[in-house]
Amino acid sequence: MKVLMNAGPWLSIPPPGYGGIENVVATLVPALRERGVSVVLAAAGSSTLEVDELVRVYDEGQFPELQKPYNQVMGIAHAHQARVVAELRARDDIDLVHDHLEVVGPAVLSAFGGPPVLHTLHWDLRKHPAFYGSFPPSIAVNGVSESQLARAPEALRAASLGAIHLATPLADGDVRAERGEHLVVMGRICALKGQHVAARICQKLGLPLVLAGPVCGRDSAAELDVVAQNPYHPLHNHPDVRYHLDQVSRYLDEELVRWVGAVGGQARDHLYASARAALFPLQWDEPGGTAVVEALALGVPPVGLRRGCLPEIIDHGRTGFLADTEEELAEWVLRVDELDPEECRREARRRFSPSVMAERYLELYEQVARAPARA
Ligand code: UDP
Repeated sequence: MKVLMNAGPWLSIPPPGYGGIENVVATLVPALRERGVSVVLAAAGSSTLEVDELVRVYDEGQFPELQKPYNQVMGIAHAHQARVVAELRARDDIDLVHDHLEVVGPAVLSAFGGPPVLHTLHWDLRKHPAFYGSFPPSIAVNGVSESQLARAPEALRAASLGAIHLATPLADGDVRAERGEHLVVMGRICALKGQHVAARICQKLGLPLVLAGPVCGRDSAAELDVVAQNPYHPLHNHPDVRYHLDQVSRYLDEELVRWVGAVGGQARDHLYASARAALFPLQWDEPGGTAVVEALALGVPPVGLRRGCLPEIIDHGRTGFLADTEEELAEWVLRVDELDPEECRREARRRFSPSVMAERYLELYEQVARAPARA
């Protein structure tokens, strides 16, 4: 089987640091290729993932552009998708398109009518009610958690082929690190991820906390400063920038609570694997939770608020803790050493390994490819 894997134009595959969907694609592709699938990857030209062919419009990932106003960036996703369609028109050897590009992917591909398409929904599905509420049935879709699909508009839920949980190569168990004292929040710095809650809790309890992640595509304090110091910068009033400046930075003190910017590669793995626990004080219904799955795989117990996909991933009291309020979360944070890191790793190997995810996608690919030809 030959699959065109459309990762979109935003970040290299694998991403050098932050990158939720890009990490999923980087996890899935090698496991598919081990199972004999040929993969044509449509992504930023800077991608280094081993594939059979790379299709690209942009040499570099366009993620830093994504935060600009819509009328300045709307052409990026469309230019990328137009290239994907041109590729599909020019050849007849693609058996299936596995698409990960938000809205533009399914909108364009359902109108095109080429090879069968499976589009994976990685997002909060209440985001685009007009689009998802009248979803085109000529595209097959799947979600990344049951709770995500449960909140989807009826038309989309009805069209969906179910949920496949995310996975991580860290589940293979190669990364080990001595346990340090710090707790960690790994993810985009934004109000939805609730870094300010983690900072407030850790400051109150006197526990060291490391916040890792970009702010609005800015990877370091120096890059963020450029935005913060210039009131005319297009991102100066972006909600994520304001969130960091107004609600997170007040807790940063270089001793107890630190923001280290976006981390990648071995530095990310080491920082994450040496944490005492990973905190998820989510202020939204997280759809997929790559960082949660990664924490389990590294033997770092996840502790979070009972929202979104967390109850599907974390078994409270065995592989992590779930709380209903900030106060309860603080109480569980004090008890993280009661959890067994090996139990977390075992769970990740059993449920969130690349091979488990690849097997499930292969079943879906076969189901979608076998479906009667589309109108
Ligand atoms: N991440 C990273 N470096 C950072 C912050 C995050 O490598 O500094 C990675 C993290 O390990 C995870 C991904 O970025 O693989 C974030 O994915 P998640 O689904 O948690 O977040 P979202 O896609 O919602 O931003």
